[in-house]
Amino acid sequence: MRALTVTPGVKNSIRLDEIDTPTPSSSQALLRVQEIGICGTDLDINQGFYGEAPPGSNYLVTGHESLATVESILGNAHGISRGDLVVPTVRRPDSCMNCLNGESDMCLTGNYREHGIKRLHGFGSEFAVSDVQFLVKVPSKLSDVAVLLEPMSVAEKGVYQAFKIQERMLWKPKRVLILGAGPVGLLTTYLLRLKGLEVVVTATRAKDSA
Ligand SMILES: [Zn+2]
Repeated sequence: MRALTVTPGVKNSIRLDEIDTPTPSSSQALLRVQEIGICGTDLDINQGFYGEAPPGSNYLVTGHESLATVESILGNAHGISRGDLVVPTVRRPDSCMNCLNGESDMCLTGNYREHGIKRLHGFGSEFAVSDVQFLVKVPSKLSDVAVLLEPMSVAEKGVYQAFKIQERMLWKPKRVLILGAGPVGLLTTYLLRLKGLEVVVTATRAKDSA
């Protein structure tokens, strides 16, 4: 199958490779990738700033934002079956207490793995595998925008955490300032507008950073 791969640590190494189609384990599903998103992390990986190949591999399949259909799966695991539209989450936990508590974003060791970034191949290929428990089933009517689920989860997490922290007191915000009008800034804007908040977004212009 075709795959977008890099040699981690080597600048501008991204290329279209021909590699073997992965074989899912009994706890994994084989995914037919429909779309991927490209973010700053992918650009940094291609700059050689970071990225780590899976053990035993000298390349890394890139791509962590994705939308896929389930090509094969054992039984009807976690309510997901063949043909379903899914988004696999990116991070796979280690055994620290936060990871064991389902909060791998708060991993205490840094020993987590991430598809397309750190020790797991990504989804920039015709087929990919993911543990079934980390697949998010997506309604087919959202197929046009569902590849944005991963960056949207970044926005959701940030907003959730902000409100969580402010539970220390009564807090009824009316206006929000968002610094940065990239995809995450804009998705966060939509989210906060849906909450009925007035949102101000600022961004630098090209000439500001020149
Ligand atoms: Zn952890």
